[in-house]
Amino acid sequence: MRLFSLALLGLTACSTVISPAELQAIPGENRGIQAIESWKQSISLVNEFLEAQAPAELPWFRLGWSDRHGMFLVREDGVQSFRVACTPWGWLVVKSGFTAQERSWGFVVGPTADGEQPQLDNTFFQGLFGMRGPQSLGGLILHEAIHTVQPSGTVGFFRGLRYYWWAIWKGGGEAHPDEALAYAVERRFLDWAAERARIEDR
Ligand SMILES: [Zn+2]
Repeated sequence: MRLFSLALLGLTACSTVISPAELQAIPGENRGIQAIESWKQSISLVNEFLEAQAPAELPWFRLGWSDRHGMFLVREDGVQSFRVACTPWGWLVVKSGFTAQERSWGFVVGPTADGEQPQLDNTFFQGLFGMRGPQSLGGLILHEAIHTVQPSGTVGFFRGLRYYWWAIWKGGGEAHPDEALAYAVERRFLDWAAERARIEDR
């Protein structure tokens, strides 16, 4: 899980798998197209980071892209589903102060306050300061991908039970042992991406 402290009001629970095909079909203002562009850029950024600084603690993996379904995981033994879904459980996750929660097949997110358009108005695309850019999106995607690849966190029933047992008795968030690597690599990625942006701006 990933900490998030935006106060959310007037929520309505949604249940949808976020996909470029659906985003493309959203009428007006090109918000859907912009979201797809940021999403694709974030994947290039994560793959570039993994190329430059592959975390020694993890098996090799990269992110792939399909214009219809969105991202998936590329692993040494083949490809693996890595979807994002905005679900009622994601709503609960967000209400508990988190952005997203990992699954074996990807991760769930929740709707944001103005949740009119579930494909766009959710904690995958919306950060603390509005629509996420590629760096912020990349950090979130990488964090959740690490849970799936490692595997750690709530990816599967028994791992989920163990995760919550620990969280209830010893506390959740960044202090949770299942979160240590995901947060550490996410931070490394954000530092790397910030440095990369500084060099590009020169
Ligand atoms: Zn996490």
